[in-house]
Amino acid sequence: MGFDHTHSTPATCAVSDKLGRPLHDLRISVTDRCNLRCTYCMPEEHFGDKYPFLQRRDLLSFEEIVTVARAVASMGGVKLRLTGGEPLLRKNLSVLVAMLHDIPGIDDIALTTNGILLPQFAQELRDAGVRRVTISLDSLNEATFAKISGRPIKPTSVLEGIDAARAAGFGAVKVNAVIQKGVNDEDIVPLAAQFRGTGVVMRFIEFMDVGTLNGWNRKNVVTGAEMVARISERYPLEPIAPNYHGEVATRYRYTDGQGEVGFIQSVSQPFCGNCSRLRLAPNGELYTCLFGNQSHPLKPLFEDGADEDAVRDHIHSIWSGRKDRYSEIRTEHSASANRVEMYHIGG
Ligand code: SAM
Ligand code: SF4
Ligand code: SF4
Repeated sequence: MGFDHTHSTPATCAVSDKLGRPLHDLRISVTDRCNLRCTYCMPEEHFGDKYPFLQRRDLLSFEEIVTVARAVASMGGVKLRLTGGEPLLRKNLSVLVAMLHDIPGIDDIALTTNGILLPQFAQELRDAGVRRVTISLDSLNEATFAKISGRPIKPTSVLEGIDAARAAGFGAVKVNAVIQKGVNDEDIVPLAAQFRGTGVVMRFIEFMDVGTLNGWNRKNVVTGAEMVARISERYPLEPIAPNYHGEVATRYRYTDGQGEVGFIQSVSQPFCGNCSRLRLAPNGELYTCLFGNQSHPLKPLFEDGADEDAVRDHIHSIWSGRKDRYSEIRTEHSASANRVEMYHIGG
């Protein structure tokens, strides 16, 4: 384990969990609100007008978020990802980004967004220090997109967001599509075609059983292998090596040199062995697994005046006790009825 027991405080020590996995990434969900109602994430029937979203007073402040990020950085965390809900709905997000950018040890700030508000915010986020952007787009077909996103919005709004991101000069722009059998599996090839040769990396995600409200059924999962086969029929693909150890997407490239695509196969090819992510919900709850049903609230600590050292010690003890590997043991747990919802911890 990476924690050096000769020190009385873990102040500058890396930490590993019970399965030897280091704490490497922090995903920060900055809001539970969203301007879409994707059927697999925040279905309208559960998230209507009366849904009790968090109030402002329940959210961690920017200063509190920065304290958590500094604590994680001091334990070896180097990557941050801002997500939600829809992160661009959080007021003054670029101010938070600038604060996070100043933390010693953080070498990468990424953002996951539905892209609708990027024409407004892409440049200021880039200027504040966001290095990479991932934009979700599940279909290019207007009817399918409206059906999945639960709002009368056209895919062209997302394409405009993607263009804004490309113009703003991010280090990388990726597009994520969650594929559900019988819903948008006909979109796999058109989506691949749309971004081939553009420098934007398209990534296809297996539909996951996150939360309890999206009606997940294994029969609706299109596996990465099936998706590779479908794309290859039209545009031949060949596998390529991961960019780094523990990369979640399996990478392929077009044999005609038109770029690459990725597949996130968390159902058919679980990657828990490399999972080094801690997730922070907007109200300060920490989760050590996307499929967690146990949260570790930080608000009470902050209310008691906890400083960065106290937060670091707390996170250190949480991470040291971590044993999660839900995707690898999915069948045993699939009956669990109180898993956290995706919109709360942001994917
Ligand atoms: N609102 C932003 C967006 O949609 O990109 C950020 C938050 S969203 C929860 C993060 C990612 O999780 C999105 O790419 C979304 O498609 C993915 N996601 C949500 N529910 C999912 C599910 N059941 N299975 C697979 N991916 C899911
Ligand atoms: Fe909103 Fe993203 Fe969830 Fe869709 S996937 S409802 S855009 S948070
Ligand atoms: Fe990580 Fe949990 Fe997903 Fe496994 S199931 S990869 S432990 S978030």
